[in-house]
Amino acid sequence: MTYWIEGDPVADSAAPDGPIETRWERRQFSAKLVNPANKRKLTVIVVGTGLAGGSAAATLAEAGYKVRSYCYQDSPRRAHSIAAQGGINAAKNYRNDGDSVYRLFYDTVKGGDFRARESNVYRLAQVSVNIIDQCVAQGVPFAREYGGLLDNRSFGGTQVSRTFYARGQTGQQLLLGAYQALERQIAAGNVEMNARHEMLELIVVDGRARGIVVRDLVTGEITTDLADAVVLASGGYGNVFFLSTNAKGCNVTASWRAHRQGALFANPCYTQIHPTCIPESGTHQSKLTLMSESLRNDGRVWVPVRAGDDRAPADIPEDERDYYLERIYPSFGNLVPRDIASRAAKNVCDEGRGVGPGGLGVYLDFADAIARLGRPAVEAKYGNLFEMYERITGDDPYVTPMRIYPAVHYTMGGLWVDYDLQSNVPGLFVVGEANFSDHGANRLGASALMQGLADGYFVLPNTINDYLAAGPFPAVAESHEAVAAARAAVEERIAKLLSVDGDRTVDSFHRELGHIMWEYCGMERTESGLTKALSLVRALREEFWNRVKVPGTGEELNQNLERAGRVADFFELAELMCIDALHRAESCGGHFRAESQTPDGEALRHDDEFSYVAAWEFAGTGEPPVLHKEALEFEYVHPTQRSYK
Ligand SMILES: Cc1cc2nc3c(=O)[nH]c(=O)nc-3n(C[C@H](O)[C@H](O)[C@H](O)COP(=O)(O)OP(=O)(O)OC[C@H]3O[C@@H](n4cnc5c(N)ncnc54)[C@H](O)[C@@H]3O)c2cc1C
Repeated sequence: MTYWIEGDPVADSAAPDGPIETRWERRQFSAKLVNPANKRKLTVIVVGTGLAGGSAAATLAEAGYKVRSYCYQDSPRRAHSIAAQGGINAAKNYRNDGDSVYRLFYDTVKGGDFRARESNVYRLAQVSVNIIDQCVAQGVPFAREYGGLLDNRSFGGTQVSRTFYARGQTGQQLLLGAYQALERQIAAGNVEMNARHEMLELIVVDGRARGIVVRDLVTGEITTDLADAVVLASGGYGNVFFLSTNAKGCNVTASWRAHRQGALFANPCYTQIHPTCIPESGTHQSKLTLMSESLRNDGRVWVPVRAGDDRAPADIPEDERDYYLERIYPSFGNLVPRDIASRAAKNVCDEGRGVGPGGLGVYLDFADAIARLGRPAVEAKYGNLFEMYERITGDDPYVTPMRIYPAVHYTMGGLWVDYDLQSNVPGLFVVGEANFSDHGANRLGASALMQGLADGYFVLPNTINDYLAAGPFPAVAESHEAVAAARAAVEERIAKLLSVDGDRTVDSFHRELGHIMWEYCGMERTESGLTKALSLVRALREEFWNRVKVPGTGEELNQNLERAGRVADFFELAELMCIDALHRAESCGGHFRAESQTPDGEALRHDDEFSYVAAWEFAGTGEPPVLHKEALEFEYVHPTQRSYK
């Protein structure tokens, strides 16, 4: 069976070469500028109001562009970014512990298992320092030390303290900063905000992205919006697994619709499984809860030495405990990167040493930290996380160790973009988790917030000028055939979803799809498992279109209809994820192929064959997608077997 077809290579033609330290500066200088009077004549649509979209919309409006912003929540500040807990990285070196732009760059390229672009990552590290200044100026209340200086803590995959945080609510505080900036521009009349609107199609006219089709989620009205450029900041697609730490609404629809219109989708199989989540407690559950990675600064991970030891943790003496991360990875200990910690947890559970119901859990123990620092200090750092854990599990983590297990958390894959954050469809820019750009095969903790804000506050507002300098583009009439066709496609799809009138709920399909993905395209993948998943997903997709029941109509608030559309897109994405995972016959970062491991069970890359970005072209539903390879070059950080020992 042909699962994919290989097409021509793709290149990032926007990336400058020469010394890496000056690439971003040179790109900013070479990018065309738009004079302030002309900016007022140019309109940009921004889909998404999380950290990436909120910061982008506010900054573009501040610069003088007319912006129309969209989100499906009832307020822009309810975007999923609000849930981010642990912190945001920046190479400020306030601790004087040896940090630098170069070290953040190095850690991130290595952390991503040498599957990210050096130019992008270097720029990210450079811009990281500006983000902190910007947010402090906005009044974001980062944690401070006794003397009043900004505090830092460590995250996985690093040996320095470079993570800025606001207790366990960093995303919330950062988003409030971006939201204030956005609200200011809304009040000034520079941003038109459209909450409770869902983008359901991208409009491409004469090869350029010129608009979107949206549904008003309250009235069901379908409208089109036309502009000079479209920015997608629509977040990640971890909910393809049904259970994940993402907000329930997170979905792939905006990106997938763009993909179907020609935008390449890169590395879809790179999923991050986060090691510290509250274990699943039963089939009633609709989402999982993250316990921030910052907890691994002070918490120690362990399981009993003996398989099947079901004594209460307090009854297990020290010498019968295995602090396995400290044992296997003495240099990084509990702060190994997420992919490594997740796999290690799976391994000890596979050995029968997992704790709690079903043996799918490991302990995260704060007894030593409380003894060393005192309870008030631990409470000050992590109080809200401890409270959340107790509310969900009924256990008090100050007294008994937390139980944690890996869960789907983040998606490194996303729409392919060049150095300018522009997709291969001219005029379509993609920022934040929705693009694939900076994290390679594994994202280091506290770097998603950094990337989202780097993209939105600093990168896009510079690079988009280069594209818009050629505008305003010729006005497009509502009656243009491409606009009418996009709108008709949305209407037909909604009518089709409503007309099936079957006997299975949307959620039951989503849950089953998620189960297939977790089983065969989750923490560990094999060739036979992935081919099995592909036939299961295809069969389930067919069943979905014959048996799904979507009650209500399209002309009202109808959350079943919203979910049905998103699950229909998840089916198509799931297939591409399995194909991408199947074709990549190597292990790297969050992509662990069981057939490709070192003798001691670590991920084994095959740089000679797979040192590229896999950018997929849509070729029609059920048709084999076309693979375009973007070769990755490493001039500065040379690929080696990653070691955290
Ligand atoms: C529980 C949790 C904790 C985390 N903690 C951290 C952390 O401590 N540090 C860190 O660096 N990262 C963390 N992350 C990751 C980080 O929060 C996300 O990657 C990041 O916030 C994504 O931001 P974004 O702006 O790209 O997307 P989001 O914040 O997801 O925003 C997406 C926006 O797009 C809109 N949208 C989507 N689709 C459509 C559509 N079709 N039509 C209209 N609007 C649409 C939504 O309404 C929303 O406004 C965490 C993630 C989780 C799940």
